[in-house]
Parts: sequence; C-alpha cells; structure tokens
Amino acid sequence: MSFYILWGEDQNLAEYHPKTIEIHGNIKNRIKSGPTSFVAQSTAFEHETAEDIENVLRQRKFGFTYSRIANPNMAQFEEKINLLEEGIGAIALSSGMAAVSVGLLSILKQGDEFISGYSLFSGSYALFTDTFSRFGIRPVFVNSTNEKEIENAINNKTKLIFIETIGNPRLDVPNLKKISAIAKKGGIPVILDNTLATPSLFKAKNFGADIIIHSASKYINGSGNAIGGVIVDSGTFDFNKDKYDDFAPYKKYGSLAYLAKTRRQIHTNLGTCLSPHNAFLLSLGLETLDLRMKQHSQNALALAEFLSTHKKVKKTSYPGLKNSEFYETAKEQFGNNFGGLLTFELESKEKAFEFINNRTFLRNLPNLGDAKTLIVHPASTIYVDYDDETKEKLGVNDRMIRVSVGIEYKDDIIREFDEILNKI
Ligand SMILES: *Cc1c(COP(=O)(O)O)cnc(C)c1O
Repeated sequence: MSFYILWGEDQNLAEYHPKTIEIHGNIKNRIKSGPTSFVAQSTAFEHETAEDIENVLRQRKFGFTYSRIANPNMAQFEEKINLLEEGIGAIALSSGMAAVSVGLLSILKQGDEFISGYSLFSGSYALFTDTFSRFGIRPVFVNSTNEKEIENAINNKTKLIFIETIGNPRLDVPNLKKISAIAKKGGIPVILDNTLATPSLFKAKNFGADIIIHSASKYINGSGNAIGGVIVDSGTFDFNKDKYDDFAPYKKYGSLAYLAKTRRQIHTNLGTCLSPHNAFLLSLGLETLDLRMKQHSQNALALAEFLSTHKKVKKTSYPGLKNSEFYETAKEQFGNNFGGLLTFELESKEKAFEFINNRTFLRNLPNLGDAKTLIVHPASTIYVDYDDETKEKLGVNDRMIRVSVGIEYKDDIIREFDEILNKI
C-alpha cells in the first residue's frame, strides 16, 4: 500500500508480467482474507487506542486516518500503478490536471522557469500560461522533437523539462532518451505525461523519465466513468542539491524526498485527493489495461492506414504510419503498438462538421481513451478560446478531426468511416 511504498518497502516484482500485476497488485504482500472488491467510502478511520492513531500519523504503523491524506482504495490504485511503472512510489489525485499541477508545483516556486513542449494537452497549456504565470513561474515552450532547441532553452533558472509521450493533437513523439541525456547534463529532471501511451505501451523509466504523470481518466479507466490522476517517482533524480534548496527539510526521507514533499506540502494541503469510489473504478479499469491498449493500437493502425489512402482525406497523422516523421522514434519507444489516437483532415471545416453530423455509432466527445470510438472537432471545442496563431502552434486547424479509436470490432469502425466519407 502507498505508505509502505513511501517508506521504502521492497517493490521488486520483476518476475510477474504486467498483465498479472494489473489484476493482483502486490502479490508478495497479499492478505489472503477479506473482500476481493470493496469501496472504503469513509471520511475518517478509527483506531483502538490514542497511541495507535499517533503511531499511524507518525508513520510508525501502517494505517489510515483521514481520506484527504490516504484511503485504502487510493492506496491500492497507487500501488498497482507504481508497480507497472516500476517506480519507488506513487500518489493518486483527483484528476490528471491535479497530477500535472501538484507534480510540478512540488518542484517549482516563484522566479523559476521550466521547459515544456508546446505540443501539449490544452488543459496543461492553460495551466502553464494562465495559472502558473500568476505565481511567477514561467514556462518556456519549445518544439519537443527538436533536442537542440531544448538544450538551448536551459539556463540557471530552469528547474525541469515537461513533455508528453505522444503530443496531442499533433501526435508527435519526442525522443525521451535524447531529452533525458540533455536534462542529465543540465542537472534537471524530466517530467513525462504518459497518459496516451500508458505503462502498457511505454516503460518510460527505462527511457529516462524521472517523474511520470497520468490522467487516469483516459485509458487507465477505459470506460469514461471516472476522473483521476497519478504521479509516479522513478527514483532516478536526486533533489538533494543546491538548485533545489527547498527540498532541504525532506532530506531525511532520502530517495523518497520528492514523494514525501509532494504528498505533504502540496497534495494534502491543496486537497487534491481522489475520491475512494473513483479510485475503485480506476483500479477496476486497470485490470484490463494491457488487453485494451493492444486492441486500441491495432484498431487505430488499421483505421489510419485506411484513412491515409482515402481520396477525400487530405492528411492523416498517426505515429504508427510508416510515412510519419515520428515513426522511427515511436517504434524504438513503443515497439509495435502506437496507441489509440489519430487525426485526419478533410477539405474544409464544413466537411469536418458534416462528417461528425453523419455519425452512427461514433460518439462526438472531447475526451479520449474510452472503449468507444470518439470523434471531435478540436478547433471548435477543446481549442475554441485560442486564436489562430496559437492553434497553429498547438497543431490544430479547422479541417481536422481527432479520433480516439475504441476497441469495437475493427471492420465495423472502418466501415462507418468509409460510409460517412462516401456520403459527404
Ligand atoms: C486528459 C489529459 C490530461 C488531464 O487529465 P484530466 O483527468 O482530464 O484532468 C492531462 N494530460 C493529457 C495528455 C490528457 O490527455
């Protein structure tokens, strides 16, 4: 459970496949009695004696006190994700945005700069530009597939590099090994938003991600029924240095300093806790993650191949297409499964709207990672508040439709796209 992880319990379960860990969590610590499925829908937890609760709060004894701090469902979810990412500990939060904000605010303070790819989830872009700027924290945006640009952006105020495994909606794939080498040279950590690949497709730690963040609302949940987020520490970056002087009070936690600081100073104080019921739904979704990611990827590749040869489609972007400029990096990082997200462009905005309005089983929804195939016109929805220049920078245009390819029967998905394209 999470406090065990936070306090350094051996988590080496390397002999088990992720498919087994997704279902059973920490097999070595398994308690062989009690319910197999539960929701601890309780605000607080009683302890037998006054001494017991003191010991729990002082972390001398494992237990729970108040669900804003920790709860059995959160702990179970944290443990599974941490094992899958092969980290040293994890923190579950109320949303992916909570994970991004808390994960970064633990490192950044007034006067700091950080580097971020500008091919970015819209919520993270808004957080960096509209919210962090109010606290004197400055994002420096770069093209995350141009390593020289990243290297040149580092100065003595730079505290971290933030990138997404697969940029959305540009669908570019930064080279994590190269970026990690640059970060190491600069003495700063790489924070990776791994939402689109999940631990099933991408073992980010092996490629140099120091901190891994997920919106669990997407593929981890898998059914579009709960919002949540998670932060995992790979344990590869040492914050015990002058540049990160506000980590000094957490030095006593050794390699767990980042997790302890993030959990106590930021997460608990801001109250970004995950609800027990959502933690339960996310753990449930996690049980089939590996199966689903393979199917999402196979379906998306087949649909991308179909769209890229259709005469009414002007452009198709998917990192698994051999003619994608990101194919080589994607192949090196993900193997043969490239995720479920793709975009395609029609002749005009009108045609894109017509496409959406002619759908049958496709859903017109702005989220992603659902078992159902979702389509959305990003320019008029997710990015509606942005001017054309910003949209261009973020990789969005009026002709584009984004598809989160689901796990329905592949030929049914392709048939629906074919029928609509032939109609419009
Ligand atoms: C959805 C998403 C987020 C934000 O997650 P929420 O759970 O919606 O708060 C962050 N990053 C990426 C890549 C996402 O797709």
